Amino acid sequence: MAIPINQRSLHQQIIVDRSKKPRHQGKTNPVDGYYRGHNPLCGDTIELTLQLNSTGDRIEDVKFEGQGCAIAIASADLMADAVRGKSVEEVVSMVQCFRDMVMGQYEFPQELRKLNVLQGISQFPVRIKCATLSWHTLKAVLESSHLTQHKVVQ
Ligand code: ZN
Repeated sequence: MAIPINQRSLHQQIIVDRSKKPRHQGKTNPVDGYYRGHNPLCGDTIELTLQLNSTGDRIEDVKFEGQGCAIAIASADLMADAVRGKSVEEVVSMVQCFRDMVMGQYEFPQELRKLNVLQGISQFPVRIKCATLSWHTLKAVLESSHLTQHKVVQ
């Protein structure tokens, strides 16, 4: 999928801006879920914390800490924006959509279009894992036993 040059440089600007000034860095309070994701290919590490609503089926907040390349950090920050307020079910299907998007096989609709800035990554296969790290980490948080216990208690 060819992306016009001017749009590509806009996308790069957003990635650089998000990686330098992430808006969702830190830890949620309380921490309802936690997982540390690592991408050995690049050395990116993302530690995600998650806050759920009182019924445990909706994401109130996601924050991250860690170190990584511009793509890994920007992707984590954009993800935190995109999943706030979404149901756990919606987010699980977004993980698959995001993977397809970075492979150039999907485009997010208007309300989630910010995520499409990472679409150009499909031209750099070695970077795909940098972009998907935070999403796979989020999926691991959602599938973690800690979270299941939380839901049972509720
Ligand atoms: Zn990376």
